[in-house]
Formats: sequence, structure tokens, C-alpha cells
Amino acid sequence: MLQRTQAHTSGTALVAGGAGFVGSHLCDALLARGHRVICIDNYLTGSENNIRPLMNHPGFTAITQDICESITVEEHVDHVYNLACAASPPQYQADPLHTMMTCVVGTANLLALAERHGASFLQASTSEVYGDPEEHPQREDYRGNVNCTGPRACYDEGKRASEALCFDMLRAGRVDARVARIFNTYGPRMQPNDGRIVSNLIVQSLSGLPLTIYGTGEQTRSFCFVTDLVEGLIRLMMVKPNPEMPVNLGNPGEFTINELARMVMDMVPGAVGISQRPLPKDDPQRRRPDIARAKELLQWEPTVPLADGLRQTVDWFAAHLPKVEAARQD
Ligand code: NAD
Ligand code: UDP
Repeated sequence: MLQRTQAHTSGTALVAGGAGFVGSHLCDALLARGHRVICIDNYLTGSENNIRPLMNHPGFTAITQDICESITVEEHVDHVYNLACAASPPQYQADPLHTMMTCVVGTANLLALAERHGASFLQASTSEVYGDPEEHPQREDYRGNVNCTGPRACYDEGKRASEALCFDMLRAGRVDARVARIFNTYGPRMQPNDGRIVSNLIVQSLSGLPLTIYGTGEQTRSFCFVTDLVEGLIRLMMVKPNPEMPVNLGNPGEFTINELARMVMDMVPGAVGISQRPLPKDDPQRRRPDIARAKELLQWEPTVPLADGLRQTVDWFAAHLPKVEAARQD
């Protein structure tokens, strides 16, 4: 087991997308390690509920702003984490132009801020840069198989462009930038209606609805628990970057969607059968990270098995679903 101790860090961290699912866990972890944290979010897909417990923390500030607008922060910033972007396919496809602008203009704005402050920079990229991969598992040097004109392109190509921006700024010696390619991550605080597989299956089970399976359900994904991902992100921020070296962060355990559905059904007695739906266009058939680079560079690998992470996620939804549903209807 590589990940024995938490990475030690300090200074002020700006977390763009800090009110989102992953971003709010990152804010928690950074505050717990003694950082000051500035969260920037426009609440497009995140929620104030995710950061409400932090509002009275003396080291925490929340700014409501779209990263597509130019960003000024008066306090000195040491680290910029850019997690701002809708991540669920139905959500990033709802306003594809804004998704692309968030990835390109938003990342450029945050890189400019990092340059002004002399801050280190981490871009949350995605396994979607590999598209529907023809190599398996996916290593960082695989260049991918993305449909650059399809409905996922606003996100896939937007993230690819954001990576290029980061590495150009790094090569120019202007920003100490690094890129994490994040694979499917799940856990407490996913929005119940965001349309991703883990939240959909759990919410459907707890609500006594049929589980929606797109296509045959034999497509695969690799699911990483959110606390494991956050530890990887913080470690990556702390290393000296190497030009053109993105780092895969994900759990290499690979499951079909049918296997995942069976695990959820076993955990939640309320599930009532399966509702088969068409497979979305360009839906990747297989996905699994090769994490050799993260293991070597960061001394990191996931520690939470899928069954344990799913149990924690089911328990969180069971405790929060009525409140979240009520808040949505207000
Ligand atoms: P999320 O939708 O829960 O969080 C994204 C946050 O960014 C939200 O709070 C949203 O309101 C905010 N945001 C979106 N556009 C913005 C804009 N223009 N200006 C300001 N704020 C904006 O998604 P997540 O799962 O927490 O993902 C976080 C990051 O990690 C994203 O960049 C995503 O692409 C990346 N990622 C996540 C996964 C995953 O499985 N969770 C996988 C790959 C990559
Ligand atoms: N999926 C599904 N039922 C759902 C939601 C998603 O079968 O209710 C499938 C989807 O087609 C994909 C996989 O689950 O093959 C993962 O989907 P998700 O949206 O979570 O992430 P991504 O496609 O971005 O990896």
C-alpha cells in the first residue's frame, strides 16, 4: 500500500469549482491540513449545501463567480486548483458552448491569475480525453480516440485544449502547471439528479424505481472513491511538474455497469428491476486507468475498495436524500 501518510501542504489555495462534488471534498481536506481556502463557483452544478459547514471556518472564503469572467483575488494565492466544469454528460451537454468556454476561457483566466500570483496550478482534466479508447488500460501517452464533432466534444475537446494551455504556460516558464486526468469518481455529495451512473443507481434504488441501464450494461468503468482522488490531487500539486506529463488518477478496478448495478441492488433492498435505455452517442465502451506514473511520482494509489465506497455513498444518500429533495423543491 503506497498511500500511507497524508501529503503535507500549506499556504492559500484557490479552488475553482469548490462547491462541487470533488471540489468541496478538496476544500475540506485543504482546510484540515492548515491551508486557507478561497472557493470560486457559479453554482451551475454545485451546491451551497456542500460548503455550508465551512462558511464559519476562519480560513474559508467563498466567491460567487463564473471563471469565464476575468478573476481578481486580493489575497495572495499560493496554489490554484481548477475543478470548475460540469462533469456529468447530461449536465455538460446542456449548454455545450458554455462548457467549452469554461474549459478554455475559464482555464486561461485561472492560469493568468496563477501567473500574477506566482502560484502553482493544477488542472482537473479527465479520462474523457481518451474518448472511446482503442488501447486498454489507458496510459498517459495514449493519444485517444475522441469524436471532435460529437455531443461529448464540448467537454472532451475542451479539456484537451485546457491541457494544451497548461503545458504551453509551463513550457514558457510562466506557470508551474500540472494536469490530473481524473477517471470516474464517486462518493457523498454527488447531486442526486446529476445523471451519473453511481448517483442514478443509488437514488433510483432508494426511491423504489427501476435502475436505468444504457445499452447492454456490458460497458466498463473504473470507480475511484472521492477521498482517494483528493489525496492524489493534493500530492500532485506538491510535486515539481515535468513538461507534457499529465498524470492519471483513478482506481484501476474495472467493472461493467451491470456488475455495479448488482452491487447496488445487493446493498439497497428497495431496487425494483432494470429499465433498459438506448446507449448515448459516443459512450466509451471500456475504461481503466494505468496508474503506474501516479504510483511512482506521487507514491499514491487508491485505498478504498468499491464495495466500501459504495456503502458510504449509499449511507450518505439515505441520510440526505429527503433533505436534498426538499431543498430542490423550495
Ligand atoms: P461537479 O459538477 O460536481 O463540480 C463542478 C463545479 O464547478 C460545480 O460546483 C459547478 O457549479 C462549478 N462550475 C462549473 N462551471 C463553472 C464556471 N464556468 N465558473 C465557475 N464555476 C463553475 O463535478 P465534479 O465531479 O466535482 O468534477 C470536478 C472536476 O473534476 C471537473 O472539472 C471535472 O471535469 C473533473 N472530473 C471529474 C470526474 C468525476 O468522475 N467526478 C471525472 C473526470 C474529471
Ligand atoms: N449509465 C447508465 N445508466 C445511467 C447513467 C449512466 O447505464 O443511469 C452508463 C453510461 O452510459 C456510461 C456509464 O454508465 O456507459 C458511466 O456513465 P457516467 O455518466 O457516470 O460517466 P461517463 O460516461 O462520463 O464515464
